[in-house]
Amino acid sequence: MSLLQARGITLDIAGTSILNNVNLTLGNGELLGLIGPNGAGKSSLLRILAGLPGNASGSILLDGVELKKIKMKERARRIAYLAQDNSVHWPLLVERLVELGRLPHLDNWQQPSAKDLEVIDRVMQQTDVEQLRQRVFDTLSGGEAMRVLLARALAAEPSILLADEPVAALDPAHQLDVMALLQEHCDSGGSAVVVLHDLALASHYCHRLQLLSGGRTLAAGTPNEVLTEEILKKVYGISLRPGFDNPKDAITLPWEPSTG
Ligand code: ADP
Ligand code: MG
Repeated sequence: MSLLQARGITLDIAGTSILNNVNLTLGNGELLGLIGPNGAGKSSLLRILAGLPGNASGSILLDGVELKKIKMKERARRIAYLAQDNSVHWPLLVERLVELGRLPHLDNWQQPSAKDLEVIDRVMQQTDVEQLRQRVFDTLSGGEAMRVLLARALAAEPSILLADEPVAALDPAHQLDVMALLQEHCDSGGSAVVVLHDLALASHYCHRLQLLSGGRTLAAGTPNEVLTEEILKKVYGISLRPGFDNPKDAITLPWEPSTG
């Protein structure tokens, strides 16, 4: 259970403003969707929330303590970060890669315990990658790779999960699975920030949305508060098609996993 707070995050790269005084708060049990057009600064913000090195100013507090002051290993136990770009070529067996997710819980050179192996099995089941166990990671499809990396992130049993477009490469059923998994993580006391482009998924699953554009927060609140006609037009340059009166009716998730 943790509270993550970002205050006054500002990032300039080569004289260009990437993020401008962005604030973000993630409470216990909260699933926060970070949305916004390409280049809005979503990935940059998520990396900063994860405490990755960079030149950002502002502060990140984890339960009131500066993230920078928390030891790397402890941070890794509490915050898991799933990057957008998974094109890293790991010639590693999938199960070895997921096992790496347990490192923050192991002492140097310590072999995984029975409990560690149990966690690894559970997260591989949850992300539906058990059948890929013996595959070499860099031969996986984009969607399979993302699910394996999600399993690795969950293997750390973090309280906070930061996931950058985790469903972008997934088929519809796996998109629902992964969103349900994030929801479950938050229902059981964890919390998550998830970057999404799919407004229907964002609206259906997220408790709150924060919309970035041009490195600033343009709107934040419940999905209905954020996804207004005015904002969709201003930020994305899209309007409702004839026949739809308001975004609430237009932005719906038309399917669910079938049972039986
Ligand atoms: P998003 O994830 O919302 O699409 P990003 O955070 O990846 O946006 O990028 C925000 C902006 O910062 C983009 O215009 C991108 O081109 C720019 N940017 C990101 N990293 C760098 C970098 N290392 N050098 C120059 N520009 C960058
Ligand atoms: Mg991005």
